[in-house]
Amino acid sequence: MENSKTHIALLASPGMGHLIPVLELAKSFVSFHGFQVTVIVVATDVATSQSFLKSLEHNLSIITLPLVDVSGLVDPSSSVVTKLAVTMRQSLPILRSTISEMKFRPTALIVDLFGTESMAVADEFGMLKYVFVTTNAWLLAFNVYIPIAHAKMEAGNEHAKRAKEFRIPGCKSVPLETPVEAFLGRDDQEFVEFKRTGTGIAMANGILVNTWEDLELKTFEALRNMKMFDNAKRTEVYPIGPLTRPVDQSLAPRDKAVMEWLNKQPEESVIYVSFGSGGTLSTEQMVELALGLEMSQQRFVWVVRPPSENDASRSFFLLESDSHQSFSYFPDGFLNRTRDRGVIVPTWAPQAEILAHPCVGGFLSHCGWNSILESIVNGVPMIAWPLYAEQKMNATLLTEELGMAIGPETSLTDRVVGRKEIEKMVRMIMVGKEGHALRKRVKDLRDSSEKAIKKGGSSYESLSKVARDCETSLQSVRAKGQG
Ligand code: UDP
Repeated sequence: MENSKTHIALLASPGMGHLIPVLELAKSFVSFHGFQVTVIVVATDVATSQSFLKSLEHNLSIITLPLVDVSGLVDPSSSVVTKLAVTMRQSLPILRSTISEMKFRPTALIVDLFGTESMAVADEFGMLKYVFVTTNAWLLAFNVYIPIAHAKMEAGNEHAKRAKEFRIPGCKSVPLETPVEAFLGRDDQEFVEFKRTGTGIAMANGILVNTWEDLELKTFEALRNMKMFDNAKRTEVYPIGPLTRPVDQSLAPRDKAVMEWLNKQPEESVIYVSFGSGGTLSTEQMVELALGLEMSQQRFVWVVRPPSENDASRSFFLLESDSHQSFSYFPDGFLNRTRDRGVIVPTWAPQAEILAHPCVGGFLSHCGWNSILESIVNGVPMIAWPLYAEQKMNATLLTEELGMAIGPETSLTDRVVGRKEIEKMVRMIMVGKEGHALRKRVKDLRDSSEKAIKKGGSSYESLSKVARDCETSLQSVRAKGQG
């Protein structure tokens, strides 16, 4: 290993939605700052992440930690948040030994939201520690404010208890479907994990967020004024995005087929439908979506997974290889009737490439933050269809703040969205006046994102500041003769 360069380590928690932005951040440190970067990957689905990691040609060292068995520690019905938190905790000993065995110790450890407990390992080795929030600033504000709001309630603040929304000073309130009390008063593990992460974030030397200043101006201002960041070292918040996966020119033959089909369609005429790496729908919902797409008479590309009746995140931890699905869950004749207008992609599609294709004009999405950023950088308006975790907050941000998406009329919790409503939304976004306005708006956001990441832009400068702090830290360690 070349030790004239600054060496940093990034830790990615399980899930492609974490791994992809962590890799993009790693690549930025290599390309723009000449760093040596080691990415430490915690995986639960080795097959998917390995095949993805193999496709990388960048100058990164990748270490995949051995799988940890959490089956005896979490209930199978626990939330994604709980499972991720426990998996990361169980990986701590192996992370510690991995770092201690490195000949050229990294100057900094950058962890994602689920890795905040690993910052203790950075402390042990005298490394700088950063949190990389792979979603937006609003979610960051929500998370760091949870322990504060909880403490207020515990102190008997009646107003806080009765509120139906979660108020964060200076930010948009977070609508909760139940009164705040039910959320903050919970003693289940998901809430405990959220609270612990909220407290842990403020211990970092800095917080990197995959968004940009102009997209969430008010929220950044609120974050910087938050008391919990007003510690002796003043934890800085750095918007460094949007970091998105670039288009891959050397696609696998299976992925090429869908791109070839897209090449033959008119410009902005195809809606792309995908629920991310983890989303699954019930059989009834799959049928309604199929019929809604058919009734809209619009062209579509739909990434499908076999339905799951009561777990919307079923594929998150194990993306089964089901490319030979029988599709028996589709309505009779659906595939035949839509053969000329639609393409069904089993399990996993080349999303970055599809969204960048000029023939794609809309995206029906579960609202994972990476998907949202990929839609913005390609100027594609969205239909927001959140399923689990923070996706509802993301959907609210898109529809109420950013004006780049529409969504179902009432909350999606515990209800099936009917074919007529789906038909209406698809037509609205693809051929309606609303779609036209949304498209214009998302293209403005795309322009603003391009400004942020180019040299001299706000995100570029934020990342440069973090890089400089890492370099300075390395120099001071060396000056003390410890490096
Ligand atoms: N993705 C993909 N093909 C798929 C599904 C997802 O390439 O069929 C990628 C997508 O482009 C994005 C990431 O996986 O970069 C998913 O992250 P996101 O935050 O949108 O959602 P999550 O999967 O974490 O819920």
